[in-house]
Amino acid sequence: MKKRCAYCGEMIQASAMDCEHCGKVLRRTGSEAAPRATGLQKWQKGVPSWMIYGAVLFGILLIFLMYHQVSERLAEPAAKPIETQPLDQGAD
Ligand SMILES: [Zn+2]
Repeated sequence: MKKRCAYCGEMIQASAMDCEHCGKVLRRTGSEAAPRATGLQKWQKGVPSWMIYGAVLFGILLIFLMYHQVSERLAEPAAKPIETQPLDQGAD
């Protein structure tokens, strides 16, 4: 029994795990027309777009929060109010 290679179109053994003509690894045996999906395309299909945008936004938010915390810590010593004078001076 033979089948057609999904990559180069040559006839190969149906039980073959990889094509003897182009050398591509055939994981799915039985289906003649395997979809030519790259890893990225599969990843994009599996992950919804809102999740990608959400992850990007979350990253930006994290960076913003970290930057905000660092700037707050740097500004803390200068922002402290200096009150050295006592309020009750006229107690005699
Ligand atoms: Zn092939």
